[in-house]
Amino acid sequence: MYLISACLAGINCKYNGGNNIVEEIINLVEKGKAVLVCPEQLGGFPTPRLASEIKGDRVINVNGEDVTCQFEKGAQETLKIAKLMKIKTAILKSKSPSCGPGKIYDGTFTGVLTDGYGITAKLLKENGIEVIDEMEFVRRLSDIESPGFM
Ligand code: SF4
Repeated sequence: MYLISACLAGINCKYNGGNNIVEEIINLVEKGKAVLVCPEQLGGFPTPRLASEIKGDRVINVNGEDVTCQFEKGAQETLKIAKLMKIKTAILKSKSPSCGPGKIYDGTFTGVLTDGYGITAKLLKENGIEVIDEMEFVRRLSDIESPGFM
C-alpha cells in the first residue's frame, strides 16, 4: 500500500484546480494499492488557492502571506493517515511545497528549483517513511519490467 499525492491520480486538488495525472499511478489505484491524500486540502485550503513556496523556514503565498500553519496542519493530518494505514512508502508530487521530495521551488516564484523537501514530505521522512516522487516510481517500475531485471 502506498500513500500517494491525490493530484497524481487525477484528482483536481492542485492549487489552480487542475491535477498532475500519471498513468502508472492510476494503475496502482485500480489495483487497490493507494491511499490518496492532498495535504493542502487537509490543511484547510480551498481549491483553487493561491500558489505558495517555501522561503527559509516559512511557507509564503504569492501575495506574501505566511501560510506555514496550514501547511503544517496538512502535514500532521497526512502523517496520521500514513500511520493508520501503516504506510512504508509515499509517492509524492515533485516540486510541491507540501509534497515535493528532494527538490522544491526556491521561494522566489520564478520557477527556480532548489534542494529541499515539502513540509509533508519532510515530516513523513522524519517519521521513517520513504518518500519518492512520481518520476522515481516510474523509473523503479521500468526497472522491474525490463527484460534484464533479475
Ligand atoms: Fe498535489 Fe500535494 Fe499539491 Fe495536494 S498538496 S495538489 S496532493 S502536490
